[in-house]
Amino acid sequence: MIPSEEMIYLDNNATTQLDPAVVEEMLPFLTTSYGNPSSGYQFGGQVRRAIDRARERLAALLGCEPGEIVFTSCGTESNNAAINSALEFDPREKHVVTSAVEHSAVLRHCHALERRGCEVTFVSVDRDGNLDLAEVEKAIRPDTEIVSLMWANNETGVLFPVEKIAEICREKRVLFHTDAVQAVGKIPIRLRDSAINFLALSAHKFHGPKGMGALYVNRRSRFRGSIIGGGQENGRRAGTENVASIVALGKAAERSSESLSEEQTRVRAMRDRFEEAILEKVRGVSINGAGATRLPNTSSVSFDGIESGVALVLFDQHHICCSAGSACRTGSGEASHVLRAMKLPDERVRGSLRFSFGRFNGDEDVERAIETVPKIIEQLRLLSPMVVETARSAVS
Ligand code: PLP
Repeated sequence: MIPSEEMIYLDNNATTQLDPAVVEEMLPFLTTSYGNPSSGYQFGGQVRRAIDRARERLAALLGCEPGEIVFTSCGTESNNAAINSALEFDPREKHVVTSAVEHSAVLRHCHALERRGCEVTFVSVDRDGNLDLAEVEKAIRPDTEIVSLMWANNETGVLFPVEKIAEICREKRVLFHTDAVQAVGKIPIRLRDSAINFLALSAHKFHGPKGMGALYVNRRSRFRGSIIGGGQENGRRAGTENVASIVALGKAAERSSESLSEEQTRVRAMRDRFEEAILEKVRGVSINGAGATRLPNTSSVSFDGIESGVALVLFDQHHICCSAGSACRTGSGEASHVLRAMKLPDERVRGSLRFSFGRFNGDEDVERAIETVPKIIEQLRLLSPMVVETARSAVS
């Protein structure tokens, strides 16, 4: 085990530390309060009320009604469920619009749908990662069932104007879903009065537990869940509730509501300080998505003349946790589909690293990173191409 004081955790888009207040709140539901929330006696009723409270807390963070929340097992399930539901209602209309830079929870699902005969349009982005709204509008056809576009990109932090896109979809009478897994807890969200039909989120991205997610389903939108069985979640997602994690998600949402302005100021200041210092100290550096509106915590940096897979080995030796694009792809050796869709030169794609800051980072983490990162990059650039090639095949 690496002593926690030696580690610099700059991978908060991969996952986040559980907030101690969240752990405290969930513990009784792993020990003494083990009743089934569907049971009619008081021991079950207490648990039911804890779930209701969690629903209210999450609804407060999202600016929606508690009844519009469906608890799920993760962000991936929520994304799958929204798209599947839309496709189930009208078996004739089988066209989906999404983007080329989505997380695999949407992208791979769409590829699987294509294999089953569904048509999918993947809208592209510009060099900064921005979407062209006219292109989104053009992609919508009479047989389009749903448009699914992420709120915040997990690799670059680039934000899509989802509220505007939702309006376009409403005018065209097409459902709109957003993968907001990276946005929730980092930027203000107010779903009341918005035209968004569905929104996916995941607890472990905002200091809650892994394996816990939710789907917002607008009260006027038709929804049919994919997991069929008991009548839990108002008949929208069957299976006995993961009570401790639901309670934890609720607490994490409450803590996020309280610290949203901190995310906008302190976390942003750490990220900006990091980027400014790296740009100043290291030559051949570019910030991906710098010309777009971004999440306050994310920094996708390309270093000329390095291979990100090899870089991660050295970063790990220095106990700096960061990633090459998304955590899901680390170790696959694949180049980032997000940066490729942004049409960045190959060298810039190969040399990209993602640093993502969070509530539990302090200035000392940033200062140590500013001191260590330039040294590691210098070391990497001194490696001969042969060494790089051997190391690259070892890590991929
Ligand atoms: N969508 C985005 C944008 C993500 O970043 C992630 C996780 O990294 C997911 C979906 C999947 O969420 P989960 O890990 O809860 O399945």
